[in-house]
Amino acid sequence: YLQHLEPGENGSSSNVNPYTGKQFSARYFKILETRKTLPVYERRDELVKMTEENKVVVLVGETGSGKTTQVPQFLVDAGYAKDGMMVACTQPRRVAAMSVAKRVAEEMDVVLGQQVGYTIRFEDKTSQSTMLKYCTDGMLLREAMHDPELLRYRCIVLDEAHERTLATDLLMGLLKGVITTRKSPINMVVMSATLDAEKFVKYFENAPLLQVPGRMFPVGIFYLPEPAKDYFEHAISTAVHIHQNEEPGDVLCFLTGEEEIEEGVRRVTEEMVGTEKTLGPLKVLPLYASLPPDRQQRVFDPAPSSDIPGVSGRKIIFSTNIAETSLTIDGVVYVIDSGFSKQKTYNPRVRSEALQVTPISRASAKQRTGRAGRTRPGKCFRLYTEKAFKNDLIETSFPEIQRSNICNLVLQMKTLGIENLVYFDFMDPPAPETMMRALEQLHYLGALSDEGELSDLGYKMAEFPLEPELSKMLISAPNFGCSNEAVSIAAMLSAAGNVFLRPSGRQEEADEAKAKFQHPDGDHGTLLNVYHSYKQHNEDQNWCFENYLNGRALRSADNVRSQLERIMVKLDLDLVSVDYSDPNHFHYIARTIVSGYFMQAAYADRAAYLTVKDNQLVQIHPSSVLMSKKPKCLIFNEFVLTSKNYVRTLTNVRVEWLLDIAPHYYNPADMPKDSKIQLELERLIRQRESRKRARE
Ligand code: ADP
Ligand code: MG
Repeated sequence: YLQHLEPGENGSSSNVNPYTGKQFSARYFKILETRKTLPVYERRDELVKMTEENKVVVLVGETGSGKTTQVPQFLVDAGYAKDGMMVACTQPRRVAAMSVAKRVAEEMDVVLGQQVGYTIRFEDKTSQSTMLKYCTDGMLLREAMHDPELLRYRCIVLDEAHERTLATDLLMGLLKGVITTRKSPINMVVMSATLDAEKFVKYFENAPLLQVPGRMFPVGIFYLPEPAKDYFEHAISTAVHIHQNEEPGDVLCFLTGEEEIEEGVRRVTEEMVGTEKTLGPLKVLPLYASLPPDRQQRVFDPAPSSDIPGVSGRKIIFSTNIAETSLTIDGVVYVIDSGFSKQKTYNPRVRSEALQVTPISRASAKQRTGRAGRTRPGKCFRLYTEKAFKNDLIETSFPEIQRSNICNLVLQMKTLGIENLVYFDFMDPPAPETMMRALEQLHYLGALSDEGELSDLGYKMAEFPLEPELSKMLISAPNFGCSNEAVSIAAMLSAAGNVFLRPSGRQEEADEAKAKFQHPDGDHGTLLNVYHSYKQHNEDQNWCFENYLNGRALRSADNVRSQLERIMVKLDLDLVSVDYSDPNHFHYIARTIVSGYFMQAAYADRAAYLTVKDNQLVQIHPSSVLMSKKPKCLIFNEFVLTSKNYVRTLTNVRVEWLLDIAPHYYNPADMPKDSKIQLELERLIRQRESRKRARE
């Protein structure tokens, strides 16, 4: 192949980095030694040869075998990033894209953002000189909207294909077409961690398969004798138990989300205070998506060292399922598997998508277990019974396309010029009902014409990396004279992590702090107040801390805000502010929210609320500032499914506004018969007609 680099082995140029022209650092050679021990490294020549001979290669290898960090580098070294063309490697998760790009920049001895970079939503760390780009699958899809043949890329690596995210599934279908039609050469490597590779091989017309066997040590599996009442408490006590009783080795504990994880870190740290001398130094660390990059990076630091003879240091990591296949942490010997993860679920009948704590699949459980046996024999503590594992867990989870609202996917397909959605070559097609619902929803939003063609509005909506309702809200905002406020609200809704902190033990103080920002008309107004205050306090992180606000979430909101503003300018949408001296100024903002979210309204009915049309019984989430006010009618941003159905992030609205802004949706005849909303709409319409007659 074109340029086979083997620094230290290929003579004269061995000490010069061909990509920078600089001498390799000592660190480069040190990392190179570890890289060479990765199972994938031995298969380098084979992989490059297969790629030369085939347009698509499927590569399967155990997590941690070096796929993500090494394979794209092999391709760059083999000359797939010449003449301004790039190698791209997609990741379903932002964290993975960032973290791996950073690692690979170190491995290649280049500055992150130069030859190696990454792009994730709202952040682009690449430059003119970028040869290797890690990006989320969603970002590559966005690029395809403007460059349908992805001409900037000579080779595309679709990583973590087994995750079967919406974006990866659509990319696979698109690229399958591109590789046959594109005039300039293009290659693909599809990488997966599971052994179920046959499906990918078949889908890509019998693409050759390269299997990299992992080195696995035996892992002892321990089940609970009885089902756990509270997996979180079990996780804490198991972590403590391991630290007190088990041999040296790091612990990885799978929980479901940020709050639980931070609580776990706090609890274990607290319980182990003062045990350093007897049990050894301990570092307890969190890992989840919205954690800032520098804190994420800390999970890769080795366990603390100990100078006391006979005891060694240990690290315990509480993580979401990011650590299941996306990120590999070396040194893990013990895994605690709660048996749960947060998953997206969608019910097309009630059009509600929700993140829900859901039992994992058997395939996930096995992956989690495998994390314990990478360097030596390990142990896995499953916080459920063996019977549950065998009988209750499903074999593999359904691909995302079969459990999501695919509105955005359909919008993107339309933008990509895919005419016949029903016959698109998906690996697993979405349910017809879900597809119908998505088309209907886009039509209501005005993104599709009556004939199902993408409208101007639809094209504009697709420019925003947001859910269609939110894009619609931003596009209509100038008409209500409050696009600056709408952009701020959209940014706050898209911030990484919870804006309001509510640390356990200090919930009361946190609630008092939040009350200071409270807006009488709801949570959107409250978010806007927080944002304005944050800017008035010059983005002071201490001020955030004192007010129980998440400083980094606010910083990310501010960054998102500038990006959204740029898109508004690009689309020629005016940036205007409401007149705050107008006592009704919030009404303009609330109506803007209605223009995007009119399909997510709920109407008071006895002690609870019913969602309009779908007639779902919901409650106001206790975190909402409208909890005590209980307005007659509200717009909600989120549907939360726990033991009860909750709606969260709410704004008080008037039924008149719904009727004015979305008359096509609020036709009383389409509402559940004799429902309160139907009666109210009918009353309003009668009232308006009689007023009109009176005027005539
Ligand atoms: P795979 O994609 O096959 O799961 P990776 O390429 O992600 O494997 O990982 C290969 C090795 O690189 C692992 O030993 C992992 O610990 C290491 N690694 C990955 N990212 C980092 C990082 N940010 N810091 C240190 N080591 C890392
Ligand atoms: Mg990987």
